[in-house]
Amino acid sequence: MINEQELQQLVEEISLESFGRPFRHQARINRRLKTTGGRYLLASHQLEFNPLFLKEENLHYLPGIIKHELTHYHLHLLGLGYRHKDHDFKVLLKRVGGSRYAPNIGRGRRQQRKYLYQCQKCCLKYPRVRKINTRRYFCGRCGGQLRLVEHLN
Ligand SMILES: [Zn+2]
Ligand SMILES: [Zn+2]
Repeated sequence: MINEQELQQLVEEISLESFGRPFRHQARINRRLKTTGGRYLLASHQLEFNPLFLKEENLHYLPGIIKHELTHYHLHLLGLGYRHKDHDFKVLLKRVGGSRYAPNIGRGRRQQRKYLYQCQKCCLKYPRVRKINTRRYFCGRCGGQLRLVEHLN
């Protein structure tokens, strides 16, 4: 997990490196961001980031997210089209290699899969969110009997 100070530094570096312009405002962590990697605040010119992407295992997504938010930032300050639908935005985002959407991770996707079934014949595993009726459902590969092998969480 990187902290807010390191985040600030990273945003400043990427700004100079990829946009050739300084980032002169603040980069913050916002724990309430859930569905997006970050956001740009028009009034304060602040950038806010989802802490999920500051974790070690998700850090590789961060430069793409920072570039996305910096694209809003620089275009807005330059008086150019800074919204997603604007041509300027699309062109610049592509040029710097920013991510188009927040990567679809987190929200406990893995945790949602509570049940692990396994085929008794070919051993194929079936993680499932809900319980399944093993008298009615069989292995999609070989037709074998499924058995609950693990109740996750
Ligand atoms: Zn955006
Ligand atoms: Zn099978």
